[in-house]
Amino acid sequence: MMICEYFRSIQGEGLTIGVPTYFIRTAGCNLRCEWCDTTYAREGGRETSVDEIMEIVDDTRDVCITGGEPMLQKDLPELLDRLLKAGKKIVIETNGSVDISGIPKDENVIVSLDVKCPSSGMSGKNLLSNLEHMGKKDQLKFVIGDQVDLNYAIRFIRENPVDTNIIFGAVGGMDLLPIAEEVVHRKLDVRVLPQLHKMIWGDRRSV
Ligand code: SF4
Repeated sequence: MMICEYFRSIQGEGLTIGVPTYFIRTAGCNLRCEWCDTTYAREGGRETSVDEIMEIVDDTRDVCITGGEPMLQKDLPELLDRLLKAGKKIVIETNGSVDISGIPKDENVIVSLDVKCPSSGMSGKNLLSNLEHMGKKDQLKFVIGDQVDLNYAIRFIRENPVDTNIIFGAVGGMDLLPIAEEVVHRKLDVRVLPQLHKMIWGDRRSV
């Protein structure tokens, strides 16, 4: 697998926000989001075997596989299998444009599937067939940059009802007031969440 970096930190987003987590960041991405905050992970990386990764990952119970785009890595199924056998609880973060049907339906794997909004420039890449593979333990994540994005996200969840968790966050993670007000006003079944790691560490890449 092509790996960009590893680090231990606090999960900053989604259902497991605040949980101490070991991050494995893969390198390489098929998208080019306008507001991408991990441009350093879109290319390059170091070829690393699953055996090596298993030696590097420490005894932290929770592991997040992120990118880049992890679904592009052909050894990902083997890595997931080995991590599950090692007793890990896994969050796999994917950009929503690559088929996720191969991710095991395991109670210890949370799929965090992005739905790209218009301000990303990538909303045409959302692969709707992925929604069929989302379960109650998983999360659909919208990163919202402006009112157009907010309207898009609200329309998307109405037109594509899925029995899963819906997360709204803000580009940059901080300006949540307009999103929260809209969610309350429209009585949406949505969690509005900050990017906790940015509140704690700013733009520092790892601890
Ligand atoms: S999918 Fe993620 S890594 Fe890829 S360009 Fe978008 S924000 Fe960056």
